[in-house]
Amino acid sequence: MNFDDSPEEAAYRLKVRAWIAANKPDLSVLGPEDRVWTEPHKDLATRWQVIKAASGYACIGWPTAWGGSGGTAIEEAIFNQEEQTAGLRFSYFVTGLHMLLPAVLKFNDDDASRALVPPAVRGDTIWCQLFSEPAGGSDSAGLRTRAVEDGDDWIVTGQKVWNSGAQIADYGMVVTRTDPTVPKHKGLTAFWLRMDTPGVEVRPIKMMSGDAELNEVFLSDVRISDSQRVGAVGDGWAVIIFTLMNERAALGSGSGLSWRELIAMARNTPAGEGSAMDDPAFREWLADYYVDAEAIRLQTFRNLSALSKGEAPGPEGSAGKLLWANGAQDLSSRAVDLQDRFGLIDDPELAVANGAFHHRLLWAPGLRLGGGTDEIMKNIIAERVLGLPGEPRVDKTVPFKDIPSGR
Ligand SMILES: Cc1cc2nc3c(=O)[nH]c(=O)nc-3n(C[C@H](O)[C@H](O)[C@H](O)COP(=O)(O)OP(=O)(O)OC[C@H]3O[C@@H](n4cnc5c(N)ncnc54)[C@H](O)[C@@H]3O)c2cc1C
Repeated sequence: MNFDDSPEEAAYRLKVRAWIAANKPDLSVLGPEDRVWTEPHKDLATRWQVIKAASGYACIGWPTAWGGSGGTAIEEAIFNQEEQTAGLRFSYFVTGLHMLLPAVLKFNDDDASRALVPPAVRGDTIWCQLFSEPAGGSDSAGLRTRAVEDGDDWIVTGQKVWNSGAQIADYGMVVTRTDPTVPKHKGLTAFWLRMDTPGVEVRPIKMMSGDAELNEVFLSDVRISDSQRVGAVGDGWAVIIFTLMNERAALGSGSGLSWRELIAMARNTPAGEGSAMDDPAFREWLADYYVDAEAIRLQTFRNLSALSKGEAPGPEGSAGKLLWANGAQDLSSRAVDLQDRFGLIDDPELAVANGAFHHRLLWAPGLRLGGGTDEIMKNIIAERVLGLPGEPRVDKTVPFKDIPSGR
């Protein structure tokens, strides 16, 4: 496989690099405190989304029938790389455009579903994923939020948790249990809903990094029209799997602080007679880290060539997600260690690199959980990539209502 750009791809890269340079919003308007999920940060991200949409760069790889630009997955990846290099790292629209709306459109082929797309592409709407529950995170087939049919509607009752961006989302996708008499994977059904539907209550969770990304979402007799069902009744597990494969492929493509930022910091960090870059132990660690980062980059190319052949992201995305999340924790931990006692300073006004490494260190444990924990990624790699025997699943064929719940 040739990892260099083809002549066409190189020309496309130059074109989008020039376009991004000419159109990118001024990032200096953001102060050190204006991190992700703050209003100024979200406003800037929205402005950038509007600019991209107006020039056909918001959803490059989507078919034009879906409101995209009909480009290739490779073109979209090139644009994303150039965006990252230009410091434009925004995630508000990823859940909608790269995880949930592709699922809505895969499972539903109707006007109401297609009408959800243009506002999301333009940055007018933000989506959130309402899957995890207090008793069902890794075991998402074990979820307990129930939906009961009532004429042309469903009445949904239950609690979701750890829902990224639910506090600012306009829409959500919720997976519910519609039939407790069949085994757990078979009785699930997915719906999309507006987050201002009566009975939906969002309660933010404060994170140790200080960020306000996560939420609990309580659903009390929420009435959802059957026309908002995603896929057939009982197809919810397929919707979950499709969405999570997209999520892991997106996460595993590796975003956030990289070895480049770490090297820049190490060069400016005094140590002994020189800088931290002269420390042999640090250099040895850095070489190992670089090898993992390259593995992620090359794995992304493999995913891309599968996508360009029209294949959906597969279980191998879990390997990228596992490496990336652990690498992010390792990198930020090293960076804070290198700063010695100054690593304790988390005030963005005073800290090295505006506290970016410190902030990442407090965020990183969440990266190893969100989108599936390390252990679940390892199970997937073992069973679905390497073909090793599956772990025992004693409740797989038992009707859900007969699985002991401890209640
Ligand atoms: C930053 C962040 C963002 C998130 N965003 C969202 C979101 O937008 N929407 C959403 O619905 N959810 C979201 N989540 C929830 C996330 O998907 C769950 O936290 C995750 O799936 C783990 O579930 P849990 O927290 O219930 O832990 P549990 O499933 O209770 O796991 C507890 C521990 O047991 C281990 N474990 C569980 N099962 C097995 C097994 N079979 N084999 C080996 N070990 C096992 C786990 O690895 C973990 O260490 C987010 C979480 C985080 C941290």
